[in-house]
Formats: sequence, C-alpha cells, structure tokens
Amino acid sequence: MHAALVRTRRSFGSELAGVDDAFSRRPGTGIGARREALEREIRAEVGRARDQTYGEIAGPAPDPGDESLADLIVDLDTAEVTRDLGELRELDTALGRIAEGTYGQCVDCGRDIGLERLGALPTAVRCVDCQSVHEKTFAQPYRPRL
Ligand SMILES: [Zn+2]
Repeated sequence: MHAALVRTRRSFGSELAGVDDAFSRRPGTGIGARREALEREIRAEVGRARDQTYGEIAGPAPDPGDESLADLIVDLDTAEVTRDLGELRELDTALGRIAEGTYGQCVDCGRDIGLERLGALPTAVRCVDCQSVHEKTFAQPYRPRL
C-alpha cells in the first residue's frame, strides 16, 4: 500500500476510534476504560485529600466495580472529586444504557443523538437541542435522568 495512504488510514482510524468505542461495535469498551481510569483518579484524589481516613473508609483495595465507592466518598468536599464523581455517574448511566440497548437515543425526544456528538461526549444522554433546553431548565449539572 502507498505510504501516504497508510498514514491517512491511520489518522482516520484513530479519529474514529472514540466513536467506535462509544457507539457499540464493542459496546462500552471506551466508556468502561474511562470509568476505570476515573475511579483510580478519584481514589488518588481522595487519598491526597484525606490520606488517613480513606483507608478506614474504603478499605485497602475495594473491587473496581464497587458501587458504594461514590456513596462512601460523596461527602468529601474537594471540587475535583465532586466533578469526577459526577462524570463517574454519567459513565455508569452510559454503561446502563448500553446494556439496555437505549444508548445513543435522546432520553427526551427519543431521536438519535448522533455519532458526532457521542464521539465528542460519549456520556451524552440528550441530543443537542434537548440538552440546551435541559440546561436552561435545570441549573445543576450532574443530574443524569434515568
Ligand atoms: Zn432530543
């Protein structure tokens, strides 16, 4: 194959990788990986913030899928942790929607959210139009509607 074509295919492929992962030839791959990375990040942040109490709260090595992690540390008050926990919940919501087969559908109007938007924001639960209405209606972020 011509060298330039190989390069083109490679860069095209990496641009589409996120969309692929988000969308479901391999359902949840990208989201699951992001979730794990995020959970490690949260543990590290919490560890820095409360390095003495964290061990007592969560134990030495909780399961990666430990659902109670968010609840356990939700009271901790660093802005970074709060933001990451919000994203963690959104990722869980996305994984749940993949499992249900509703991933990629707008929760408000039921239309396709669109590959471009999902590629940029794999946790999106609304199409662009409904999201902007939602943001005007609800001031608080991180309240994914199930
Ligand atoms: Zn919509």
